[in-house]
Amino acid sequence: MSETENKKVYESDSSGRSHESNVGDPLDSTIELISREVPQGVDRRTFLMRSAVVTSAVMITGNSMSAQEMTQRSSAAPPLSPDLDVVKQEKGPVLTTVDEFYKVGPGPSSSHTIGPMRITYDFYQRATKLPADKLEKATALRVNLFGSLSATGKGHGTERAALAGLLGKEPATVDPLFLDSLRDKPDQVFQVKLGSKSIDVSLKDIIYDATKGDFKHPNTMTVKLLAGNDVLLEQEYYSVGGGFIEWKGYTPPKKNPPKYPFSTMKELRAHADNNKITIAKVMLANEMSIAGRSEEEVYAFIDKIINAMAATVKSGLSMSEDDVLPGPIKLHSKAATVYKRAMDDSYQSDRGIGVLSAYALAASEENARGHLVITAPTGGSAGVMPALVYGLGEGGRKLPPQKIRDGMLAAAGVGYLCKHHATLSAAEGGCQAEIGVASSMAAALVATAYDAESRVVENAAESALEHHLGMTCDPVAGYVQVPCIERCAFGAVKAWTAYAIASNEIASRHRVDFDATVQALAQTAKDMNSKYKETSEAGLALSVVLC
Ligand code: SF4
Repeated sequence: MSETENKKVYESDSSGRSHESNVGDPLDSTIELISREVPQGVDRRTFLMRSAVVTSAVMITGNSMSAQEMTQRSSAAPPLSPDLDVVKQEKGPVLTTVDEFYKVGPGPSSSHTIGPMRITYDFYQRATKLPADKLEKATALRVNLFGSLSATGKGHGTERAALAGLLGKEPATVDPLFLDSLRDKPDQVFQVKLGSKSIDVSLKDIIYDATKGDFKHPNTMTVKLLAGNDVLLEQEYYSVGGGFIEWKGYTPPKKNPPKYPFSTMKELRAHADNNKITIAKVMLANEMSIAGRSEEEVYAFIDKIINAMAATVKSGLSMSEDDVLPGPIKLHSKAATVYKRAMDDSYQSDRGIGVLSAYALAASEENARGHLVITAPTGGSAGVMPALVYGLGEGGRKLPPQKIRDGMLAAAGVGYLCKHHATLSAAEGGCQAEIGVASSMAAALVATAYDAESRVVENAAESALEHHLGMTCDPVAGYVQVPCIERCAFGAVKAWTAYAIASNEIASRHRVDFDATVQALAQTAKDMNSKYKETSEAGLALSVVLC
């Protein structure tokens, strides 16, 4: 539609209220829809159906706003700043690499735990580089958490992660027991060494600030080095999802061009099909060219992640059935119970689904415990991919390791595209961006591991994502436990279902392409009310009463 066609006109209705109608779409105006005349050029059936819907809405709400207006008014979250690299990236080819994407770190959240720890660690590094005379004046470090980080940070251990980063600890190597000790003894005071100066820091220096405001990203935080009331160094940061971070003035690191540039699944598949190679091989070639790594180096990293995923499942399964997860929900661990029943011969016909669910629960419960997990793509969804990785490997099908490596590469391609065009952040897009993307990646993993052609890989990934669209994020009490832990099991099972359907249909008859579903994910994220974006202000977080 041209700009002129799309132009809005403003007029007054009989009540004198001004309203807008879209010249390009006569059905866009609620006033026209409530009238009895079918507007010129509009199909009568469509008109009547939409009139009925809008008339009902007007009767119920007494409000004649368009659906779009209602959505905009009800959603308090401001749009993401166009300055953010995560927004700008959409324009070029995908340049993400596996080591940026699959990150090891403490649970329970990539955006609220791993991201903040990376941020304060980054600030600590910057502070160490200040001139000695400046450092000599330093008296305090201060972290302010805003938006979703403030709304749900307590249940995500954000303040403990932020303090650990200030103390020079990194997500991949931090001892989860250290984070537990911060929870159990919150009054501990530590010393941060900056040059010759030692500054006292404690959890009191991490401040839960405004939950609402005009932030560049819903996960915004600032870190300051102070000399009394004077600011020696200050930086505003954004935890943009999946453990990725940016800051004010961020410029992405320079990277080499990919061997096979793609920014859509259509282009990714075209490279695979035209070169008669798999999607996994396209991804491998790009990893090597973008990061300048050898094939062995790429596979060595992927093997490390596969082993770490298997370890989270095994560690989760080893926990007692009586184990109670941290936090006010007092949720009991259930992975071991579900696994035991799945392996009981009396329930043999349920074994596949039971074992897969148990694996996902196990890894997700590890995340809830704050133990080390892998972002695939996030902490909240950290049970989905490990369930399939372990199930296809040593925990079940025992496929050759190379099949699982290939699956991990294809899954990464799916995750990259979701990050590129939509989001991996629940604070930006709800749970569809976490469990939905994880399930989609896992479906691509299974299809690839079973040597499916590229179209089937796409169809499986599409199907798994499609059936998570619209899923909201409403963690009870702000803890990544309810609905998150069971949701990982459902995400894993849906991934398998998506593969089962995709590998049994005639691939070319699949009517929805992956790129269209990613667009729907992005649009749904934009339209979703902010109450359902990791704020714990609605949904289960409101209806579940803890006693
Ligand atoms: S509801 Fe989903 S998106 Fe929200 S914290 Fe839980 S797993 Fe993450």
